Amino acid sequence: MRLVGVRGVSKVFANGVEALADVSLDVRVGEFVSVLGPSGCGKSTLLRLLAGLTEPTAGTVEWSDETGKADLGFVFQEPTLMPWATAIANVALPLKLRGMAKSEREARAAEALGDVGLKGFERVWPRELSGGMKMRVSLARALVIQPKLLLMDEPFAALDEITRHRLNDDLLELWQQSGVTVVFVTHSVFESVFLSQRIVVMAARPGRVSAELAVTEPYPRS
Ligand code: ADP
Ligand code: ADP
Repeated sequence: MRLVGVRGVSKVFANGVEALADVSLDVRVGEFVSVLGPSGCGKSTLLRLLAGLTEPTAGTVEWSDETGKADLGFVFQEPTLMPWATAIANVALPLKLRGMAKSEREARAAEALGDVGLKGFERVWPRELSGGMKMRVSLARALVIQPKLLLMDEPFAALDEITRHRLNDDLLELWQQSGVTVVFVTHSVFESVFLSQRIVVMAARPGRVSAELAVTEPYPRS
């Protein structure tokens, strides 16, 4: 069953750059799909279209369930934590914006921090955290609203190899436990094979889907 899809989507920016050319893609409920391709092929643009952060020049973005659209989490390569707020306040922020009472949002944020392996780090400030831990906080902040769709844009690309492997492992576990649908953008073949059930390969330029590969089950389930 489809959660969200793009149909014949093209994106031409004001400067004339054609970032996407006639891309069609369905994201299925509960799957972990990677979008793999070289830098500049339009992967971020595709994610931004799915998130509703930008509009296509041609084609459509279609949600199967309109409520899904409101429940999405986004994780970028830069964790973009608020420096003046503790880890727990950063994670609780999306709940605060939704008007949730303080005691409940703190409880949920603490649980989300525990889920990403940061139990005990609630009152720590972003500047005290390593890159991998900042990424974990960022992931907790995206997951705390229990989104239907988690969009990840080369989230681990700036991290050292060991940290990246640990995060890959933990992300798969989170995906299995939460049932969230994940679209994971990467230029790493390793990451896409390790993490996903399905890989959508994008050609260099202009951005087109050039292949779709089935990986069957991701590593921990095999
Ligand atoms: P990727 O994520 O695969 O690296 P992007 O989607 O970021 O690719 O970019 C695709 C192409 O569109 C690139 O050539 C990029 O420079 C261009 N691009 C991205 N955003 C904009 C923008 N806002 N204005 C103009 N060109 C852009
Ligand atoms: P609360 O959960 O009490 O409503 P916030 O979520 O607004 O608090 O903030 C969490 C933490 O960040 C608190 O320690 C608060 O003092 C601090 N904080 C929030 N906003 C700012 C700001 N603009 N400048 C400095 N510190 C802030």
